[in-house]
Order: sequence, then C-alpha cells, then structure tokens
Amino acid sequence: MQADHFDQQKLLALAAEDVALSQLAHRKRTLPETAAVEDAEEAQRALSADVVRAETEVRDLDRDQKRLEADVDTVRQRAARDQQRLDSGAASPKEMTGLQHELESLARRQGDLEDQVLEFMERRETADAALATAQRGLTQAQADGERATQLRDDALADIADQTKVHEATRGEVAGTVPAPLLSLYDRVAKQTGTTGAAHLHARRCEGCRIELYGNELSAFRNADPHTVLRCENCGRILVRTADSGL
Ligand SMILES: [Zn+2]
Repeated sequence: MQADHFDQQKLLALAAEDVALSQLAHRKRTLPETAAVEDAEEAQRALSADVVRAETEVRDLDRDQKRLEADVDTVRQRAARDQQRLDSGAASPKEMTGLQHELESLARRQGDLEDQVLEFMERRETADAALATAQRGLTQAQADGERATQLRDDALADIADQTKVHEATRGEVAGTVPAPLLSLYDRVAKQTGTTGAAHLHARRCEGCRIELYGNELSAFRNADPHTVLRCENCGRILVRTADSGL
C-alpha cells in the first residue's frame, strides 16, 4: 500500500491515543477500588450474618429465661399453697408429713430453677455483648463500604473523563487520516488488540520490540517513503522518522 509519508506519521498519534485508551480500559478492569468495594461487601455480609446469629441467640435465651421464670412462679405458688395448708392446722398428720416432704422437694426444685435463671442471665449478658460487638462491626463495615464505593465511583468517573478526552483526540486524528490507511490501521489494531502502527525507532519495532536486520532491514532502507511498511513480526504499520536508524 502507498500512503503519504506525512499521513503515515499521524498514525503514531493515533497509536498513542489507542495505547492511552487501552491503558484506561485495563485500569478500569483492574481497579483496586473495585476490589476494595467487593471486600467491603463481603465483610458486610459476614457481619450481617453475625448480627442475625447473635439476635437469634438473644431471642432464644430470652424465651428460655421467661419459661424458667414461669416455672419458678409455679413452684413458688405451689409451695405457698402447701405452706398455707400446713399453717391452717386443718391437715391430718399423714397429710402434714406429705406436705412437708413436698415443700422440701419444691424448695430444692426452686433452688435448681433459680440457679438456672442465674446461669441464663449470665449467658444473656454474654450474648448481649456479642450482639453489640457484631452490630458495631456491621456499622463500621457499612461506613467502610460507603467510603470504598465513593472512592471507586470517583476513580471510575476519572477514568470515564480521561477516556472521553482520548476518544475525542483519537477521533480528531482519525478524521485527518486517509480512509484506506485508517482502515488498514484499524484492521491491524483489531489483530494486535492495541495499536495498528508503531514507531520504527533505532531499527526496532516499538510495537513488539523486535529489531530489524538482514534482508528486511535493507528492503526497508531502500523503500519509498510513501510505501506503507509492516512489521513482519507483529504486523503493525511501521512509521519511519528521522530516528528510525535506517
Ligand atoms: Zn512489530
């Protein structure tokens, strides 16, 4: 292909914009701020689960404690009734013996139940503390998550702004490149995934860093300035300048 030597130079500006755009795309894909948001979301999920677990524990202990307290009440009432009957003097000696035995056993039962209530109260305190810790952790994680999201959104907005600038510049440059040369550039860029042209600098293709030698070098040396040269290694259009070392 033949293309004006001066038009070929424009491809370097085009390639520079494409490099900038692909760097921005790469930065967007690998943004540490995005990973930080994902980490924060993961931490929030874990802490939310901790809160739910702690709340369930507190609720269960509450329920068990109420049941125990009801049992204590029942025992107390029964003992009070027995005591009343005993004090009334209306019971027969046999009934009195029975009542005394029952009172003793009720007292033991009440003692056991009260011990259990105390134990539940201790467990409840521990559970309350665990719940408070989980809630504090969750609140902190939510604040961290909001901050991380803000940082990520700022970074994405920055990338979007820069992308817009480079796309505009690329559009301007592309508008000045003759259509056949531009379409060759675009085709090669699609193949390389980055740029369609590279600077031939000190006999080296700046696209793939391969140095020219031998027949290729001498062919390029003798080539017409308006002939479009391609790197045999990466396929990029090689743009010659005074630094090309030819
Ligand atoms: Zn190359």
